[in-house]
Amino acid sequence: MRPTLLDRLFAPVTALSGIGPQLGRLIERAAGPLVVDLLWHLPTGLIDRRAAPAIAALKHDQIVTIKVEVVRHDPGFGRRPYRVTCGDGSGYMSLVYFNVKGDHLMRLLPVGAERVVSGRVEFYGGVPQIAHPDYVVAPDEAARIKPIEPVYPLTAGLTPRVVQRAVATALERAPAMPEWLDPALRARRQWPGWNDALAAVHAPRSQDDLSPATPARQRLAYDEILASQLAVALVRARRRRRPGRALAGSGVLAGKVEAGLGFTLTNSQRLALAEIAGDMKEPQQMMRLLQGDVGSGKTVVALLAMLIAVENGAQAALMAPTEILARQHHATLQRLAAPAGIAVGLLTGREKGKAREAILAGLASGQIAIVVGTHALIQGEVAFRDLALAVIDEQHRFGVDQRLALADKGRAVDTLLMSATPIPRTLMMTVYGDLDVSRLTEKPPGRQKVDTRTVPLDRLDEVVGAVSRALGRGAKIYWVCPMVEESETADLAAAQERYRALAHLAPGRVGLVHGSMKSADKERVMAQFAGDGIDLLVATTVIEVGVDVPQATIMVIERAERFGLSQLHQLRGRIGRGEGRSTCLLLYQPPLGEIARQRLAILRESEDGFRIAEEDLRLRGAGEVLGTRQSGLPSLRLADLAQHAELVAVAHDDARLVLERDPGLDSARGEALRTLLYLFRRDAAIQYLRAG
Ligand code: ADP
Ligand code: MG
Repeated sequence: MRPTLLDRLFAPVTALSGIGPQLGRLIERAAGPLVVDLLWHLPTGLIDRRAAPAIAALKHDQIVTIKVEVVRHDPGFGRRPYRVTCGDGSGYMSLVYFNVKGDHLMRLLPVGAERVVSGRVEFYGGVPQIAHPDYVVAPDEAARIKPIEPVYPLTAGLTPRVVQRAVATALERAPAMPEWLDPALRARRQWPGWNDALAAVHAPRSQDDLSPATPARQRLAYDEILASQLAVALVRARRRRRPGRALAGSGVLAGKVEAGLGFTLTNSQRLALAEIAGDMKEPQQMMRLLQGDVGSGKTVVALLAMLIAVENGAQAALMAPTEILARQHHATLQRLAAPAGIAVGLLTGREKGKAREAILAGLASGQIAIVVGTHALIQGEVAFRDLALAVIDEQHRFGVDQRLALADKGRAVDTLLMSATPIPRTLMMTVYGDLDVSRLTEKPPGRQKVDTRTVPLDRLDEVVGAVSRALGRGAKIYWVCPMVEESETADLAAAQERYRALAHLAPGRVGLVHGSMKSADKERVMAQFAGDGIDLLVATTVIEVGVDVPQATIMVIERAERFGLSQLHQLRGRIGRGEGRSTCLLLYQPPLGEIARQRLAILRESEDGFRIAEEDLRLRGAGEVLGTRQSGLPSLRLADLAQHAELVAVAHDDARLVLERDPGLDSARGEALRTLLYLFRRDAAIQYLRAG
């Protein structure tokens, strides 16, 4: 139950005086539906009305608050505005109104009366004027004009003053909150209490006060981050209490497979495998994310993990997001698992008829111990004899429910998620704070560094010449076309044009892949590129992640400045996978902006996906790094992960420590933390509190 303390904040904005249904809808659009949303509606600017010069000293574009005497009214007509002339002894100015009724202005500004007027000055025909002043009040009401006003994001139809008033009323309703922060942390950071922090962020006195680095903004951001970390920590703690099955590998099958690999595992792979085996051995369900760049060797790790399940007489499944990837994994796993005498099944939408029935029967009987597939694996007709491990490749391309659906095909199934998208540590904790994480930080030995160079587009001819010579030497080359617009047709047109322009370089041996092709067609072209038919592959950015053509040694990326850093890194990850020395040419259109220049420089310097991801976060901000479509990124109102990254790690540890000491959140601070969870609508996690 939500603490009654919060009831007033969780009322609709229309509960505030002066806000009816119509304004309520507008405020909802700008800030949100509830009173609490107004508290989180932070100012993005301020208006300083403190300047009070004499009329003779007014400057263009200045915001002023001046005391004047009303001299004369000149009603406008036609397109001429209504004009009220005022003076102050030093000179005259006008107040200008368009489409306003005269009688209203007569009452507001009676001739001979003194008025305090505030607004932005402009000059018209050499005379200072203020069009539609923000304030016109009698001198004894001048206190109504705040010397400094916060400026809030608006929506069409909302005036600044309505939002200011709504926020101010909401602030008045904010109850005195118990302190949920660790007192030592608060003291060390010199953060204000919750109520003071709120008051401060809504009353900026200078531009500096709008910075995310002020103690007040930091405190509120920390509150929000802590709520999210506490919620994921609760989910994690609950999962760890749920029974799983203890699977200890005998090593019999894994030993045979390892012996047949022809290479030794990297330290990273060994460490990840030990972490996975450790989880599987525990009587709790594993929920671990294996992260590593393309080519870092996740597949082998996944196979060895699956063999632990098989050594226990159970089954394992690997689900991939596309047909191509599923087939590629199937081919790889089949080859690698052969020394252990294990057949690997394949199930996608394309397995039909007898073949499909045979696979379904094999899964049901347990004869097929390891299966690779697409979404087809989670269809109702698929049943396992005893599924113990679910591996999900490119996990972010699946919804949470799809991941769970695979695990639901077995009993107390351990789950291993895999991702080639390196996510910065800070984001990691926010998005996947409830997961355990293993990272493959080193590349398999023998990989050569990709020689990455930036080339201005006006040297395109030289690049084409170099590509032509390389083709003559038998090279395989990717040519990636730019994202022209946020439109697939435009991208496609650009790619087709480039394809036509390059086709003569190797007649009959140039291919094109793009996003709107059928998956079977894409696959055919990719297969030709991997095999013998195609040497130069022109592609939009939709080359499937993870598709492996080790012989490819050159990649040209056109208009590289338009791509995100992580995206460029992902693309480049497709070369440098084999023996040959690889080159990546980043073609850019000069002049480069500062951010674009930094991005390309980082890419030239580094091939470390994790470092690149951190830099990407620094240069772009959190939302973009993950992409808006990516599920799981909680929308944060007060925290900005690019600005407050450091707070995430602090909150992460804070949350875990709290739950270790006070798993039921029963202490005084625990009570306050429950209130915090409700305040940020993370209360779904409260049901996971350990009872008693
Ligand atoms: P990922 O799935 O992370 O992109 P893969 O598992 O497909 O990477 O591995 C990429 C390539 O590197 C494969 O050809 C694989 O056989 C090879 N490989 C994996 N681990 C090692 C290793 N320790 N030493 C040498 N080659 C390796
Ligand atoms: Mg892979």
